[in-house]
Amino acid sequence: MVVAQAAGAASLAEVDAGVADCFACPRLVAWRTDVAVTKRASFRDQEYWGRPVPGMGPADAEIAILGLAPAAHGGNRTGRIFTGDRSGDVLFAALHRAGLANQPTSVSADDGLELRHTRIFAAVRCAPPDNKPTPEERDTCAPWSRRELELIRPTLRVVVALGAFAWAAWWPAMTAAYGVRPPVPRPKFGHGAQVSVPGSPILLGCFHVSQQNTFTGRLTPGMLDDVFGRAKDLAGLA
Ligand code: SF4
Repeated sequence: MVVAQAAGAASLAEVDAGVADCFACPRLVAWRTDVAVTKRASFRDQEYWGRPVPGMGPADAEIAILGLAPAAHGGNRTGRIFTGDRSGDVLFAALHRAGLANQPTSVSADDGLELRHTRIFAAVRCAPPDNKPTPEERDTCAPWSRRELELIRPTLRVVVALGAFAWAAWWPAMTAAYGVRPPVPRPKFGHGAQVSVPGSPILLGCFHVSQQNTFTGRLTPGMLDDVFGRAKDLAGLA
């Protein structure tokens, strides 16, 4: 069902609407709904989105940032990707420093944040328990990302994969959207890794902006600045 729905979406707006109304994964539908009802104590006065979270950014983006999945009390609460959690704080501050966002903060869907030259979306569009989608859920959700890629393909030059999950999700998405095969063996994920497959965007690896990485210093603001600076260079935006 997702395959046909995604393939039939004629625009990013139709992809976004289809994503937001998707109920294809029973475990994730139950989880996102349960989290939205039980809430975190500090957000108990807020109404949670509790639905899949669409991508964000212009349709003529040169850079795509591919994440894992929305956070239970971040995107699943606010309805916008990387919005309302510490991961988003780090990511959007870096995008603002790079000139790819109009403001450094991302707190709610109506806070005025706009991306420049950049589209952000997740490999899995519903918040999963423990941030771990199953392989079946990953595969069920993949057609949404593939269609999103097809629609931004005319301008897309660089894909930044946030973490190993997004890096792995890129290869089948690339084959589906661009009709090219990944190198054999598949290049390993690493921070700063770069892969160019003729006929497709350049892939850059970046540690995920999770608290596990940013609180421990495994991923620093300087490291993010280097990745987004390189992405801009490769996309012809510098
Ligand atoms: S993870 Fe993707 S396919 Fe599954 S219910 Fe959410 S939006 Fe639909």
